[in-house]
Amino acid sequence: MTQAINEIRAQFPALNQDVNGKPLVYLDNGATTQKPQSVIDALSDYYRLNNSNVHRGAHTLSDRATQHFEDARKTLQAFLNANKAEEIVWTRGTTESINLVAATWGRQHIQAGDEILVTGMEHHSNIVPWQMLCQQTGATLRPIPVKDTGELDMEAFASMLSDKVKFVSVVHVSNALGTINPVEDIIKMAHEVGAKVLVDGAQAVSHWNVDVQALDADFYAFSGHKLFGPTGIGVLYGKEELLNAMPPYQGGGEMIEHCSFDGTTYNVLPYKFEAGTPNIAGAIGLAAAVNYLNGLDRVALEHHENALLVRANELADQIGGIRKVGTAPKKASVFSFLLDGAHPADVGTLLDQQGIAVRTGHHCAMPIMNQFNIPGTVRASFSFYNTMDDVERLFAGLEKAKMFLL
Ligand code: PLP
Repeated sequence: MTQAINEIRAQFPALNQDVNGKPLVYLDNGATTQKPQSVIDALSDYYRLNNSNVHRGAHTLSDRATQHFEDARKTLQAFLNANKAEEIVWTRGTTESINLVAATWGRQHIQAGDEILVTGMEHHSNIVPWQMLCQQTGATLRPIPVKDTGELDMEAFASMLSDKVKFVSVVHVSNALGTINPVEDIIKMAHEVGAKVLVDGAQAVSHWNVDVQALDADFYAFSGHKLFGPTGIGVLYGKEELLNAMPPYQGGGEMIEHCSFDGTTYNVLPYKFEAGTPNIAGAIGLAAAVNYLNGLDRVALEHHENALLVRANELADQIGGIRKVGTAPKKASVFSFLLDGAHPADVGTLLDQQGIAVRTGHHCAMPIMNQFNIPGTVRASFSFYNTMDDVERLFAGLEKAKMFLL
């Protein structure tokens, strides 16, 4: 595995540099992932050779750009095992995907007295759009409780379900805690009361292959930049019959079939939801990232990530003085913690001085931080290109940080 990981690392230019005089240890993959050379090349090839607007062109470059852009959609369709390419809507990222559903399906279906459920461990992007919808409609947003371990309380969820619940929007993997939620069960249970379900997959797709049909998710959202692709591009998967019945999100070019001052008719899927010039390079770059992942043994890499997490837990127990935040039995490779007596921001700065990049703070998940009564955590989020040496360097760095802080 070590050799395989070293070969993989060689393909990510940003990993191979010194930061503050030390070889970089990049452990901020939950915030964004680094990009393989093939993604960087796909972006630069598009701008060097094929740059043109898509769909309406009467020339070769536009045809090429359109071909690559629509091929990218098919690559993402296969990646998620969606039934049709039309079910893949390009967005700016997870945040926009969720806002799209809240503003369209939500405004069409949600009324006063209805309930929308999210979990207590959501990222703000899966809370605020629903809060805004509730303010507009008089519906109620209810958080499913989270246990002290960071596990979702599924008994509480079962007891919250009723025919008032019209929508359930849940995070697949918590960015703050690493908890993997049982989304298959959640979807099944929600469907039994007639509710639709959106899964926020921002932190899941980088760890394993997701099958939206096997999950029976109504909507699935994620961001390209957390999947080794570019920023500013993301995906909303939606079941065709739901997307077809939803009103458009934004108005403009591309999303119309016919426009006149007497009225406008809308384009077919997925263009109905893609007003304006899309992020063409982003879509092509994201497809390059997926093609890159398709060439790897993702199951073996997931095991490797799990081994990194196990080692982090062992080392944390050895050095002591560490409060782990998020200890659910089913976790992705996210190690969130507090160093006793130290503010997370100070720990982050001292690690950075040693070339170790982590994230500190509330991780845009203030409600779960409030539940644990903490201002935030230090979060080391591992990807498949991290090594055991990276984990060792993190804890050696923490030992050093302790000498300054305590
Ligand atoms: N949901 C989760 C679980 C996340 O971790 C993030 C980003 O950290 C988001 C949503 C928002 O993603 P983006 O900012 O790419 O839209």
